[in-house]
Amino acid sequence: MRFEHVLVVGAGQMGGGIAQVAAAAGCRVSLHDAAPGATARALETMRKSLSKLAEKGGGDPDETLGRVDAVADLVPADLMIEAVVEDLAVKEDIFRRADAVLPAAGVLASNTSSIPIGSLATATGRPDRVIGMHFFNPVPVLKLVEVIRGRDTSDETAAAVVSFAEELGKVPAQANDFPGFVSNRILMPFINEAVWALHDGVAEPEAIDTIAKLGFAHPMGPLALADLIGLDTCVAIMEILHRGLGDDKYAPCPLLREHVESGRLGRKSGQGFYSYE
Ligand code: NAD
Repeated sequence: MRFEHVLVVGAGQMGGGIAQVAAAAGCRVSLHDAAPGATARALETMRKSLSKLAEKGGGDPDETLGRVDAVADLVPADLMIEAVVEDLAVKEDIFRRADAVLPAAGVLASNTSSIPIGSLATATGRPDRVIGMHFFNPVPVLKLVEVIRGRDTSDETAAAVVSFAEELGKVPAQANDFPGFVSNRILMPFINEAVWALHDGVAEPEAIDTIAKLGFAHPMGPLALADLIGLDTCVAIMEILHRGLGDDKYAPCPLLREHVESGRLGRKSGQGFYSYE
């Protein structure tokens, strides 16, 4: 099974990055978003990123962008990669609609950070062709793709998605279908604990991040990373871990909720633990 035409649904920071790496690998990409202006912004971000990569010997940005079309609705493709907000109801609706639009052989993948793949599979009539394809931010830079098999995902689907990730120049690692999979089950409690340290007055944000960067050799501190991921996305993931694993240790810190409720979502809104104005 080869994926030549990829439909990317959601043109935020992740969907735009996924569309970029798929187009750079030679796929035809259709990019859809429900919000007016979102695909145009994504194409602009892609152009900047591709131009920087071209300076370091990457391919021609115009040629890559020529393979990406913004589309007003879901369209048939060999593979859908869904990258909309981390909200089960919104994702289920996309999977239901994609099931009706993609050909029977098409694979439906989600870039979800934490939502069980089985929940998305049950919204479709093709659970054997539903899978998690979890990219990392920023997608053009980070190599990992966590591939999550649902209970009904077929060997053929998993093998096709693993080899597609390799074609994109990524390194796939397989995980089973638990809330948060491997990556966010480890990362989110780490971020949440850093927010608790700030909440309790243990240290200022810069000191917390410096300690993690220099003490643990992390490229970025947990508060700066939370701002990059999006604090709304962090809260949504923590809630899924909390509910799904049934342990209060996963409850989001009130300070994290406070930021989200006040619209301080991190880099994407210009303000989070740090200011990006
Ligand atoms: P984002 O807020 O940047 O973008 C989400 C996009 O989805 C927005 O453009 C929005 O308009 C669009 N959208 C919402 N509802 C839609 C619908 N019904 N149809 C079409 N488009 C719709 O979010 P993001 O950071 O790109 O995250 C997207 C997904 O990727 C989430 O599931 C998230 O958990 C996951 N993810 C995020 C990161 C990260 O670091 N931010 C990393 C890995 C995975």
